[in-house]
Amino acid sequence: MKLKIGIIGSGFSGLSAASYAAKSGHDVTVFEQHDQLGGRARAFSQDGFLFDMGPSWYWMPEVFENFFRDFGSSAADHYELKRLDPSYRVFFEGEQIDVGAGRESYIDLAEKLDPGSGRRVEKFLNDARYKYDTAMGGFVQKPSLSVTEFASLIYLRKAWKMNLLGSIRKEISKVTTEKRLQSLLEFPVLFLGSTPAKIPAMYSMMNYADIDLGTWYPMGGMHKIVDGFERIARSQGVKFRLRAKAEAITVKDEKIDRLVVNGVAETFDAIISGADYAHTEKLLPARARVYSDNYWNNRTFAPSCLLYYVGVRGKVNGLLHHNLFFDADFDRHAAEIYESHQWPESPLFYVCAPSKTDPDVAPEGDENLFILIPVSTRIEDTPEIRERYFEMVLKRISALTGEDISDRIVLKKSYARSNFIEDYNAFGGNAYGLANTLLQTAFLKPRMQSARVPNLYFTGQLTVPGPGVPPAIISGKTVAELINRHQST
Ligand SMILES: Cc1cc2nc3c(=O)[nH]c(=O)nc-3n(C[C@H](O)[C@H](O)[C@H](O)COP(=O)(O)OP(=O)(O)OC[C@H]3O[C@@H](n4cnc5c(N)ncnc54)[C@H](O)[C@@H]3O)c2cc1C
Repeated sequence: MKLKIGIIGSGFSGLSAASYAAKSGHDVTVFEQHDQLGGRARAFSQDGFLFDMGPSWYWMPEVFENFFRDFGSSAADHYELKRLDPSYRVFFEGEQIDVGAGRESYIDLAEKLDPGSGRRVEKFLNDARYKYDTAMGGFVQKPSLSVTEFASLIYLRKAWKMNLLGSIRKEISKVTTEKRLQSLLEFPVLFLGSTPAKIPAMYSMMNYADIDLGTWYPMGGMHKIVDGFERIARSQGVKFRLRAKAEAITVKDEKIDRLVVNGVAETFDAIISGADYAHTEKLLPARARVYSDNYWNNRTFAPSCLLYYVGVRGKVNGLLHHNLFFDADFDRHAAEIYESHQWPESPLFYVCAPSKTDPDVAPEGDENLFILIPVSTRIEDTPEIRERYFEMVLKRISALTGEDISDRIVLKKSYARSNFIEDYNAFGGNAYGLANTLLQTAFLKPRMQSARVPNLYFTGQLTVPGPGVPPAIISGKTVAELINRHQST
């Protein structure tokens, strides 16, 4: 049966859900409160600079390719993809390390940092590959509505082999005790929003994604992917409504009845929300909500972040496309994010300079910088604090690269927790949703289908499988399939 489906939000999950739902023959409209699509992957341009506002790492390229292939297309039809080599540069105190593309180069690096560790790294990566293949081949694609989806002997055996209960820190400590190599191996799980001590060892699959599958860049910028997704969605008949804010969802006979957008109510057979989960539930009458404020307050959120979009006149030597400033104490910064919830004394941070690869994102000869400092979701940001941290990162960049850029900055915009709340209705100003801790994985995450109003579905970084662009794409496909399955039962 053809359903009329309303989708709230045009992030990757919303775009993916819309495309798959429309392909199944449903009548789909996406409502986006902003004037452009892409959610956290929006972009803005100013004075000849073009900034991607959120994601900058293109990992797991086959997830993007699978999406396009499902619609008879290919990523190459929409953008030119380049593999970065080196993948990224890491600044430690007093030295910098470039991580080359591919396993061989990584093992060489491991041997240099910790002679004899190469074989252990190789085994670690083989295990990581097993976990990745197992997860992508099943675990990650499940709607995870109930534990029973995982309750077969095969899954239990696989879960055991994936070392679900151990922490990634423990697993890495068996590979090497060399501090820099440990930091390099722990880096990929920082995408998962918690500390390596709390992230299950199964997520070493991210190391496989990092080292074997590689770091890529779509020429023109990450928003080119959004353009490609929009093209696919439109080709399937999806309709888009921009500057369309969902304000309320009405419920009749324990089912969703209407979606109120910009003051106008419209009837839908089903609603999928790719917007912040807690915000979506607030649109419902209180009796139809499943999760309380207390529930959300007790979750472990991935960090929020303080961002700067910076245009620099001339080049900044000493930086690559991706740069990690690990010249500070990681555990201390992590405790300030997750435990004491305070502004960090001396944070780790990340600098992306896409103009190193792409001439179209800055005026000729200039540099486009995106700077990200992870911070707690429970702190207040003020203009003074933003300024103080900007000075701090400039000093660190200058000390480690030998380049003082302070008098060459021609454009600067900051973005922080309060903007995430304003722009995305993000609970606590979270940037990347919930952390992938063991107790917030699979069926322990907020449900993809409401337990109170069954024709309300959720997709995106706050439900399964979790934060990040590839998971958001998978989440959209999974929710569209779930709706079809419910229809046929
Ligand atoms: C700074 C930053 C850097 C990141 N870096 C990376 C990276 O390098 N690689 C990676 O893979 N991932 C990265 N991520 C994570 C990734 O961007 C997200 O996990 C993913 O894009 C989330 O997609 P989504 O569809 O779940 O949600 P979103 O992109 O947040 O989309 C939700 C949409 O809902 C809309 N909305 C909200 N409320 C309403 C309403 N009431 N009515 C209408 N519309 C509404 C919002 O405007 C938004 O467009 C990063 C995230 C951030 C913030």
